[in-house]
Amino acid sequence: MNSDKQNLVGLSRQELAEAMELLGEPAFRARQLFHWIYHRGETDFDKMTDLSKSLRQRLPEHFIVGRPTINQSLISEDTTRKWLLGLAKGGEVETVMIPEEDRGALCVSSQVGCSLNCSFCHTGTMDWVRNLSAGDILGQIMVARDEMEEWPSGVDGRKLKNLVMMGMGEPLLNFENVSRALQIAMDGEGISISKRRITLSTSGVVPMMKRCAEELDVGLAVSLHAANDELRDELVPINKKYPLAELLQACADYPSARNSRRITMEYVMLKDVNDSLADAKELVRLMRQYNVHAKFNLIPFNPWPGSVYECSSNNAMHRFSDYLNDEGYSAPIRTSRGRDIMAACGQLKSASENAKLKALKQKRAAGG
Ligand code: SAH
Ligand code: SF4
Repeated sequence: MNSDKQNLVGLSRQELAEAMELLGEPAFRARQLFHWIYHRGETDFDKMTDLSKSLRQRLPEHFIVGRPTINQSLISEDTTRKWLLGLAKGGEVETVMIPEEDRGALCVSSQVGCSLNCSFCHTGTMDWVRNLSAGDILGQIMVARDEMEEWPSGVDGRKLKNLVMMGMGEPLLNFENVSRALQIAMDGEGISISKRRITLSTSGVVPMMKRCAEELDVGLAVSLHAANDELRDELVPINKKYPLAELLQACADYPSARNSRRITMEYVMLKDVNDSLADAKELVRLMRQYNVHAKFNLIPFNPWPGSVYECSSNNAMHRFSDYLNDEGYSAPIRTSRGRDIMAACGQLKSASENAKLKALKQKRAAGG
């Protein structure tokens, strides 16, 4: 890509105004550009018809309206779509669109790889490579809109209505860029996805949760996965740094949880590891002890080559779910989507990574 030119995607209103100022243009140009880039999805300056002809000619000398490159595009039997995207500064991430009747959601990545090594997550077995820029994060949403032909924003009947920061990486360890990107995505004159339709999933980076509430006020999902510290230390090792007591207190303090919005507790169902009735009872006790306004999301474990866990039996999952329901907590068992294209939780990037590793091994074996 034109690496010498600045990508306008990722720039806030203020930064666009500064860029226009450098070109000697009035500040209202920034508003026009913001509309073209984030509301209309236009990438060609020449089509931005309310800009003067001379500006339309000068803009491409300095700037691009870029997109990640689509390295691979897959559609599952159940219509889940997955894009493997190449980023301007190198590296690849996956973005998954789960279309559903009235609440289609785009699952967006925040980092290439992840540094946290949760024992059941395939992304965690990969090295952390780098943080995505705000432009990389917005780029995922914009590619999805391009591909589904859903520009301009805000028209009824769009499938891309919800955004979940649940792809590769830990969003609260790349908070600056995630925050910049989500603030632009929420802007009503741009991509215009309401904060009520955005959920950020964290493994429990406690010190950043307050800032997340203050700056973004989006819905929060917490990857809980265990009802005691001993087990959570093993499954979600960041628990050693921020144990359950701190995490649950931060959940209780998360402002939207005090209003009508509950915090989603994600709980991956691992056979004979965390799926007993005693575990469910302990969860309920913890929610009450810390006064957390919670709902649960039970995720059937998606095995990957080399994983040491198995998914709980249907019986165990229903027993767990029923118990939480009886205690007044919503606790649906999430159906796994896009399994045939490796688009399910914790499998992101793994297939392409594996393909590369295989190729490398073959090359080595061949003495290359
Ligand atoms: N890093 C963030 C967000 C990305 S992971 C976090 O951990 O919350 C999104 C969700 O998928 C998390 O709840 C994660 O625990 C879950 N997950 C990861 N690997 C999985 C697997 N193999 N099977 C089922 N769920 C998995
Ligand atoms: Fe990282 Fe989340 Fe996977 Fe843990 S579950 S390794 S935090 S992506």
